[in-house]
Amino acid sequence: MNILGIDFEDWFHPQLIQRYLDGKKRTPTVINGLDKILDFLRIKNVYATFFVVGELLEYKPEILDKIINQGHEIGFHTMHHTRLDEPNFKEKFQEEIIKFANLTEKRSRGFRAPTFSLNYQSSWAIEMLVNNGYSYDSSIMPVKTSMYGFTNSEIKPYKITSKSLEKNDPEGELIEFPLLVGKLLGRTVPTSGGFYIRFLPLSVIKKSIIEYEKMRIPSTFYIHSWELTPEFMPKISMSIKDRFITYHNLKNTLSRMDELLKKFEFTSFSRYIQKYNL
Ligand SMILES: [Zn+2]
Repeated sequence: MNILGIDFEDWFHPQLIQRYLDGKKRTPTVINGLDKILDFLRIKNVYATFFVVGELLEYKPEILDKIINQGHEIGFHTMHHTRLDEPNFKEKFQEEIIKFANLTEKRSRGFRAPTFSLNYQSSWAIEMLVNNGYSYDSSIMPVKTSMYGFTNSEIKPYKITSKSLEKNDPEGELIEFPLLVGKLLGRTVPTSGGFYIRFLPLSVIKKSIIEYEKMRIPSTFYIHSWELTPEFMPKISMSIKDRFITYHNLKNTLSRMDELLKKFEFTSFSRYIQKYNL
């Protein structure tokens, strides 16, 4: 059994886009694709965890019921998609957790850091999450990329603490679900979704899931709402590199996800935790 998390955010949230926003009005549009994503999951008979950027719930509170009523889980992705290691975010994060709890009737037990920004500068977040009733996190990429990641992290779920981000700490109270990685030409690469499912051959992704299955490790997968509904994603003018990372092959993401969900079993974090008694 594998795990599917959907980072539910709008067009102005991705870090690469934020630097091109200047005066642009931030009116959510990707949010209108929720019904399409829910229909897709229903047809595939798959439950997922939606890591929602909290301000979207303020804008449209009914998205909570829509997600929950279909058996999916709601998780926290900060209120405004702020990096955890941004200066002075610590105090604001505590306020944001409380705000999100109020917006979600205290249902959220899982967290994903925007742009996988959980690192040794922001590891204070772990204790804060535990103190606020959170039971798991999924923000560690077990390979170093230009934007995030760790070289020596565990690949199977483990107990994480602020002193031990990469390895199991028996004293830990938060379960970490590291993202799926695989091999390409002998090198370790993320194969867990997002840009990688659009860029890499799907065979590389499938192979990595099969490798994890052999080791009896769940593949933790992530996909952005705007990748599943690119018709609601406006085209922002950016540098060639940023445009490539953001928009490359968006039109094929849904069909690639469809193929993976056909071949492999996925569920939400909460259902996985319950099933395997973690
Ligand atoms: Zn995000």
